[in-house]
Amino acid sequence: KAVSDNEIWRRSMQLSMEQQAWQKSAEGQKMLAFRRSLPAYKVKDAILKYISKNQVVIISGETGCGKTTQVPQFILESEINSLRGATCSIICTQPRRISAMSVSERIAVERGEKLGENVGYKVRLEGKKGRNTHLLFCTSGILLRRLLIDKDLKGVTHVIMDEVHERGIDEDFLLTIMKELLPCRPELRLVLMSATVNAEIFSSYFDGAPLIQIPGVTYPVRTHFLENILESTGYILTADNQINDYGQVWKLNKQTLNKRKSQIIAAVGEALVSADYSGYSQQTKESLLCWNPDCINFNLIECILCNICENEKPGGVLVFMTGWDDISALKEKLQAHSVLGDQDRVLLLTCHSSMSSSEQRLIFEKVATGMRKIVLATNIAETSITIDDLVFVIDCGKAKEASYDALNNTPCLLPSWISKVSAIQRRGRCGRAQPGGCYHLYPKCVYDDFADYPLPKILKSPLQSLCLQIKSLNLGSISGFLSRALQSPELLAVQNAIEYLKLIGALDENENLTILGGYLAMLPMEPKHGKMLVMSAVLNCLDPILTIVAGLSVRDPFLAPLETKELAEAAKAQFSHGFSDHLALVRAYNGWKVAEQKLIGYKYCRKNFLSPQSMKAIDSFRREIQSVLKNIRLIDDKASSYNTYSFDENLVRAVICSGLYPGICSVVYKENSLSLKTMEDGLVLLHSKSINARASNISYPWLVFNKKVKVNSVYLQDSTAVSDSMLLLFGGSILKGDVEGHVKMLGGYLEFFMEPAVAIMYQTLKRELDELFQS
Ligand code: ADP
Ligand code: MG
Repeated sequence: KAVSDNEIWRRSMQLSMEQQAWQKSAEGQKMLAFRRSLPAYKVKDAILKYISKNQVVIISGETGCGKTTQVPQFILESEINSLRGATCSIICTQPRRISAMSVSERIAVERGEKLGENVGYKVRLEGKKGRNTHLLFCTSGILLRRLLIDKDLKGVTHVIMDEVHERGIDEDFLLTIMKELLPCRPELRLVLMSATVNAEIFSSYFDGAPLIQIPGVTYPVRTHFLENILESTGYILTADNQINDYGQVWKLNKQTLNKRKSQIIAAVGEALVSADYSGYSQQTKESLLCWNPDCINFNLIECILCNICENEKPGGVLVFMTGWDDISALKEKLQAHSVLGDQDRVLLLTCHSSMSSSEQRLIFEKVATGMRKIVLATNIAETSITIDDLVFVIDCGKAKEASYDALNNTPCLLPSWISKVSAIQRRGRCGRAQPGGCYHLYPKCVYDDFADYPLPKILKSPLQSLCLQIKSLNLGSISGFLSRALQSPELLAVQNAIEYLKLIGALDENENLTILGGYLAMLPMEPKHGKMLVMSAVLNCLDPILTIVAGLSVRDPFLAPLETKELAEAAKAQFSHGFSDHLALVRAYNGWKVAEQKLIGYKYCRKNFLSPQSMKAIDSFRREIQSVLKNIRLIDDKASSYNTYSFDENLVRAVICSGLYPGICSVVYKENSLSLKTMEDGLVLLHSKSINARASNISYPWLVFNKKVKVNSVYLQDSTAVSDSMLLLFGGSILKGDVEGHVKMLGGYLEFFMEPAVAIMYQTLKRELDELFQS
């Protein structure tokens, strides 16, 4: 739609007049002064000049220097001043939804506006934007989704990709797409922002695009590695990962010493044992050999925190942990401590990707004098969230990283050592306003062995969703496209993903998208969950599947607090008839929903050891999925007709099977004991939280599972028992042996396939069945 010059003029003036009025107020002046004090402000003109002269510009600078909050505003303001304000459309991507939300909120505050006016955000479950939103923060995933329906990004004038150094899959994917889109859109500008030092790789990928380095002001940070901590405090580590600070010398005998040495060598290599500790006391040297690299020493953290609280200058402490589980365990431990649990002196907060926005706001709030803020965080606080009043950092040296073993086609989720840049980044979080102190809970020699940079996610993740998106965006052959990526993934991982997509019917033999595949690409979830939804809409049992798919995307609602573990297990057992974690979730949710309508949802959760937050998250995600299903016309407004068979737990079980296949595991009894096997892994175990883990007898021949994780053995995290016929009809034809016997057991389900909408599926099935009968 063409907008007349006059109109542009009028709108731009209006914007700038509102802006001016607020800027003149005391509050506005103060904010402006703050913004001007940020290092990014000093290079504002250079940034704008480079952006006007180059299609791609890379900006790097220390965390906290003002990249995220200022650069998008510089562009917005310059567009407004040049009277293009009304037509500019700036999209700024963030790797995480939480940063998209918090950053847009912050910018609205800086501009004295309401969120959703000039500045807005859009993430998976939520969004705030209006017709006049010219600067939109979103996750990289949201921009990818937009490309599905608008492959030239019509109307977009600037794309800013923030935190590109993190090298997430979506970000790497977007970079490759942008590289191919730029020549077709010569007016479009791309700005890449990166926190750390390896910005050159982006510059060379984009044909030598200019790199602007924002000079930072940082204060010195006193750095303590484990040996320094031990030496200066006199703490002694003992073999059971306890610490002892009573000056009681604890001697290792030779045997233990040798055993420890080989354990440490296995865990961190030769470095620790061969390192030179000549400057250190005997006590520290022996203590170092008692250090357990495989777990985080909570006692040591507690002592360091206590020491800071009692002896150090005021200022917040940021503790880097690996994930929500160790954060909550540490929090519990600290709350029990006399000093750290004293709510008049210490404000203990947590910071992780699934925290609520009210929790989030607390993190940024200033504490009263005399109070000390302690934030227990995952690596989300490494670059994307900047907390101002931090003076101390404690770094456990690890991060829980999803990785992927292409050989066994198994995802792994293990805490692993971070890279050098991450460690430097963590340390840098505390030297921003004044000199700080950083405690690394590992020896310097272990740090020296860290990789320089983290491995890009595209090299270590399953690629199914990515491959599906490449096809649905019409980007040509999957392997061809991936060979043009910033760094290309292993061929084996690509082949596995393509095989999988063919197996579930998302791609045909020629790697073209099938109708099912087209739907799956439009659904904002893993293909297997998407397939469950498609099947449930077609087979009219939508409601329970909505709950299951939503439940699999939020934190497990079944709580298992250590001290009341048995009560919690008993509560869960009420939902657990039928050998299915997924059906148990459906029952728990349905019960909650009834209770919630009677306004006793919270009570219901407490009684049944369920997390009210997770229940609410499931509820809102269900609604979100439902609206997506409507948008892609898989369902219409007549919700009830999609639930004719929702009560039929066996049909639901079959639909779960259709999505989770080929995640199957056989159940065999041998000498009164249950043995579980998958094709790829051989013997597997059930995660202790699964209700099937406590079943002494599973009266079905198969389990389908959503997730398996390799820790030491392979564990199935959640599972649903299914029969032969369900697997045969809904899973695929793996039971080529006794086909006729199985088909006889098909029961009444075939009639459901006669509905017009499933004609295609029916035909595929029929072909499969014919093949089966022939073989
Ligand atoms: P960068 O992206 O370079 O890491 P940011 O633009 O995120 O830096 O932050 C710049 C500064 O703005 C921070 O140092 C901090 O002082 C301030 N800031 C950022 N977010 C908030 C917030 N939500 N509340 C208060 N201050 C903030
Ligand atoms: Mg930033």
